[in-house]
Amino acid sequence: MPKEVDANKVVRQHLEMDDFFTGFVIKGSSDVPVEESKPSEADVASAAKELEALAEEVRQCRKCDLGGLRTHAVPGEGHAKARIMFVGEAPGADEDAVGRPFVGRAGQLLDKIIAGCGLKREDVFIGNILKCRPPDNRDPRPDEIISCLPYLQRQIELIEPEVIIALGAHAARTLLETNKSIGQLRGHFEQYCVGIGRPAIKVMATYHPAYLLRSYTPDNRRRVWEDMKKVLVELDLPIPQTGKS
Ligand code: URA
Repeated sequence: MPKEVDANKVVRQHLEMDDFFTGFVIKGSSDVPVEESKPSEADVASAAKELEALAEEVRQCRKCDLGGLRTHAVPGEGHAKARIMFVGEAPGADEDAVGRPFVGRAGQLLDKIIAGCGLKREDVFIGNILKCRPPDNRDPRPDEIISCLPYLQRQIELIEPEVIIALGAHAARTLLETNKSIGQLRGHFEQYCVGIGRPAIKVMATYHPAYLLRSYTPDNRRRVWEDMKKVLVELDLPIPQTGKS
């Protein structure tokens, strides 16, 4: 027997997801509480100081060849005690030019995804597996990942996010130490181990915004929105009601 389709549900999901990606006004989302058990101001200040010292180390880094090719290193940026940390693959040309993560076209889509979640860029932390741009935007090489990963690991230890959102296959595979495809990894929580005696951090893998731009289908957009909603539910954050102004 074919399963009966709930047409209303399909239409609602479609509209919700469409608004999410077109950046229309998000109703009543301006003052969404971002932290439940807020870290103290002193904890935030201390983590911010250590993150800045680490960023300076990254800017001086010459551990692999990419250090000699970059215009700017891109250490990452955002809230020093963010509940959500986004991790991408590596800076592209736009990021290399200014030293900030996700500022090009993929970054603009990431901004929309963050806004669609009822959050602001400064509420989250945005980093990458590699801190310097690989030439011609080629895939990160294993030796580069091995050299660079300790910086990201240290950032995760300092920020202590509750959820890491791994953007794309490279970020997901590196954080989760697996060769599985993004299709297998996305849509559910996996775990990132910080170290012995420390609680694991939940990881939600989803499509990289650059992939989404190349393959901007309703199905892919719906999948990313479903992944984000699972993160919001996990963190007890409201799922914004969207609507066209
Ligand atoms: N793509 C990434 O993976 N990271 C960036 O910072 C920009 C584009």
